[in-house]
Amino acid sequence: MNEQSFGLYIHVPYCIHKCGYCDFNSHPIKRDEMETYVSALIKEMTHYSQKFSSAGTVNSIFLGGGTPTTLSATQLARILEECKKQFNIAEDAEITLEANPATIGSDQLKSIRQAGYNRISIGVQSFDEEELKLLDRAHGVEEIHCTVDRARESGFSNLSLDLMFAIPNQTLDGWENNLRQALVKNPEHLSTYNLTIEKETSFGKLQSSGKLVMPDEDHQLELFKRTIDFLKENGFHHYEISNFARPGKECKHNITYWQNSNTLGLGAGASFYMNGIRSKNTNLPANYIREINKKHTAVEFSESLRPRQAMGETLMLGLRMLKGISIMKFEDRFQTSIRAIYGDVIASLKEKELITIEQGQLRLSKKGLFLANSVILEFI
Ligand code: SF4
Repeated sequence: MNEQSFGLYIHVPYCIHKCGYCDFNSHPIKRDEMETYVSALIKEMTHYSQKFSSAGTVNSIFLGGGTPTTLSATQLARILEECKKQFNIAEDAEITLEANPATIGSDQLKSIRQAGYNRISIGVQSFDEEELKLLDRAHGVEEIHCTVDRARESGFSNLSLDLMFAIPNQTLDGWENNLRQALVKNPEHLSTYNLTIEKETSFGKLQSSGKLVMPDEDHQLELFKRTIDFLKENGFHHYEISNFARPGKECKHNITYWQNSNTLGLGAGASFYMNGIRSKNTNLPANYIREINKKHTAVEFSESLRPRQAMGETLMLGLRMLKGISIMKFEDRFQTSIRAIYGDVIASLKEKELITIEQGQLRLSKKGLFLANSVILEFI
């Protein structure tokens, strides 16, 4: 990604069912509303394509959710066609669509691939029927196999699977079995997240009442270590705390985000960061549509980051990547010496062997990787 390119994120906030642990901006399907939602997206796109006409080339497009595949193939094709009309899309742009098993059929997948989406990220979460039930997912294991196989048959040669670990009662062997089954599908990319519980979700309420007991931190750490060892042994490149890829298949869109580079977000609840300004759209789809129809934007919050804030965020996000951040690029970007601002923090973390500086890259050490959240917070 060069300075003259940016990522484009488009949020589709509809799901066929609310999973018990979900705190994303997702809402029940409303067929009538969805058509007007797509029209609103296009209006918002027109507004920003004019505003950022000199921002450069779009390097990646990512349709996330919610569940983008709750939209029809025609609606998804229309969104991408408009992106191509309104922005300068790089020839080798990565164009990802998130999909959930049980929300997409063969014909829809073929049409989507033909429309130009070239990467698919499938929310599998688990290959264990009991775990899927516990997670309150709307699909079973058979539907996962079916969806992945159909995606391949439809021509998706760049495929990512999302898996979740630290599910209650999950053993190390149970988790490794999940990873093993994922590899049978031969994905180019894997995202592995540990289940975290937010208070406002159904799982949060179950946890407060003692009906849901999460694995302790030591076990979660063992699961994470097993993930790294197992996937590395199987040829995956561990390039971000939770992400693994076959060489060359790292997710361009997410790298743009972790580099704290320009990303334009469209749709209900979308957050974006363009030219030092961070903004967020209103969450409710009906409010989003109303705002867009009234004034072509639906921003409910916007702030211009102070240099110190922007530096802290750049470090916080950049350290999530295993290669860390280039000190030279950081200093060029902020026109200051990193040691002048963070000298004490860097010295203290180096002494505790939580970070390293080698060949101009500041990165988490192996020990720091397992304590990443607390290490990263030192820079904020
Ligand atoms: S499918 Fe994803 S976005 Fe939708 S409810 Fe479940 S976790 Fe949330």
